[in-house]
Amino acid sequence: MKISRLLATAALATYLFSASASADRVVLHGKNRLNRPSKETASLIVNLDTSFRTVTHKSEADGLQDIVKLISESEYEEEWLYLPDMKTWYEIGRNETSVRHGTHIEGSLISDPSGLEDILGKQKTFTFYHFHPIDKEGTYNFVHELWLNQGSRLGEKNREPFYSKMAYLFAVHGGVPSPGDIRKMSRLKIANYKKSKIDVRFKVVSVLGTFEYSLTKKGLEKFKNVNTDPNFNKELEQYSSRIPKLLEPKNFDLLGWLATTDYKPFIEKMASGLSSEYILIKYEPLRK
Ligand SMILES: [Zn+2]
Repeated sequence: MKISRLLATAALATYLFSASASADRVVLHGKNRLNRPSKETASLIVNLDTSFRTVTHKSEADGLQDIVKLISESEYEEEWLYLPDMKTWYEIGRNETSVRHGTHIEGSLISDPSGLEDILGKQKTFTFYHFHPIDKEGTYNFVHELWLNQGSRLGEKNREPFYSKMAYLFAVHGGVPSPGDIRKMSRLKIANYKKSKIDVRFKVVSVLGTFEYSLTKKGLEKFKNVNTDPNFNKELEQYSSRIPKLLEPKNFDLLGWLATTDYKPFIEKMASGLSSEYILIKYEPLRK
């Protein structure tokens, strides 16, 4: 899975921490700060140029359609903040890297919202959105192997539907939040629990919808410092071990998936299978 590094975490936590307290304490510290000028783009793009950030004015649903295209077109991850009151997307990812490991792409980036402090401080809510690029060739090889091992029993006329539905399945699976995503979200949520009135959300975009990841109230109260708390590390280990198990035959109704066009119940089951009393994963289909 992809691990997103967050070098600017402390700075962002400082910001989110102080945003609701008093505006004049809103400061991003550190040498990682990069106050990039904005450049307006008509669509959401993956921007590898650190000299500017992109800003796009469009609805959440339209922006998500842009991101779905990027999932299969881009080798790199990208991250944005979506501000619903302004219907605006700000790119915050920078220093993106991408490494291929067999059947998947491992990406990393720095989340850097510096320069957006004043705007963010005025919001009631905003959402961190990112996506995980698909290694098309890796997915194809995986599905081809599955066909040889299991699918071919379905008969030659089912070959194409099998390939396309399984490719979807793996694309959705690749869109579940990584352990690194959970850690970064938890760090920010815990730092700002009870301290900020801004409702900050975290979502990964997949080809069939979004996965929102958060901590339950119990999780917010249980974990203290996600870098040093052994309880949190144990919880994260358990979360990691649940990801590959999602597609095991005993947990996944393969024939049901192949027979249906309504994927929602399957993906909701995946999301609830990833959740615990502390970590909550919620699936939401894309709106057309
Ligand atoms: Zn991620």
